[in-house]
Amino acid sequence: MPEHSYTVMEPVLYSIERRKRETRDTFTLELVREDGGAPMRFWPGQFNMLYMFGVGEVPISISGDPLDEAKIVHTIRSYGSVTHKMAELRRGDVIGVRGPFGRPWPLDELEGGDVVLAAGGIGLAPLRPVIYSILGRRQRFGDIALIYGERTPSDILFRTLLEQWRGRFDMKIEVTVDSAREGWRGSVGVVTTLIPGLRLDAERTRALICGPQIMMTHTIRALKDKGLTEERIHVSTERNMKCGEGICGHCQLGTVLVCRDGPVFRLSEIGTLLGKREL
Ligand SMILES: Cc1cc2nc3c(=O)[nH]c(=O)nc-3n(C[C@H](O)[C@H](O)[C@H](O)COP(=O)(O)OP(=O)(O)OC[C@H]3O[C@@H](n4cnc5c(N)ncnc54)[C@H](O)[C@@H]3O)c2cc1C
Repeated sequence: MPEHSYTVMEPVLYSIERRKRETRDTFTLELVREDGGAPMRFWPGQFNMLYMFGVGEVPISISGDPLDEAKIVHTIRSYGSVTHKMAELRRGDVIGVRGPFGRPWPLDELEGGDVVLAAGGIGLAPLRPVIYSILGRRQRFGDIALIYGERTPSDILFRTLLEQWRGRFDMKIEVTVDSAREGWRGSVGVVTTLIPGLRLDAERTRALICGPQIMMTHTIRALKDKGLTEERIHVSTERNMKCGEGICGHCQLGTVLVCRDGPVFRLSEIGTLLGKREL
């Protein structure tokens, strides 16, 4: 077997340095290399394959700051067999990591223009590294807006961070929830309800969208109504994947392999394929 394909298939051992509970079903893991080897460098939007020994392997986006070379951070929603087991991980436990994989968000193309980041649910996690990167060199960008929709107020991720970002006053942050009890003073409604209120110059704005399929479909429609072309809309897609490297074909979406050619695509590249379940 060629050396390259052998190493990308072999997980590197990382131990859990810190585990933070975000919400009732979502947690963040900060990982450090067991062997003290070179830290992982990644681009915002890339993902790792996380291996729970004896259970299975799943793709999870990197949710930390790309400039933090000491640790690698993942935010995970407990969903099925592997992620349920991951929810039981504690400090000092060891998992396998392969990556980073995939095509990142087009940060260079965002420079000099305005940016709208639209997140639904756990979709905020893959967008967080973009926000860190933009805020790290804020003067290179125009207006920045984050619109984020969650199920209920108690499902909202990264609350403290959202407040910190809001306090900077150089970034617009709007959070909405599908449903709320009394006491919630924010917006109620799906994330697309926030789009008509955005002051948006379609000629200089790019939108990055990450969330469930239905959220992405409606968000795209609302942004197009605001005049954004498919060239200016970027989406992060999800497919069931295995190798992470374009070898096995599990994540084929029409003519592309999501793990290798994505997960981030310009909408004009995959427009009609986006809503298709099996291809
Ligand atoms: C590029 C990429 C980045 C992702 N980033 C994150 C992240 O940052 N945080 C996070 O919580 N989740 C993320 N996911 C989703 C995560 O991979 C799935 O929730 C996880 O694989 C489910 O595995 P499980 O064993 O817990 O559930 P299972 O019991 O295996 O599966 C439960 C259900 O999820 C479906 N499923 C399994 N794997 C995937 C998958 N890879 N994508 C979509 N559906 C799947 C199955 O078809 C099944 O219907 C990402 C997925 C992709 C493709």
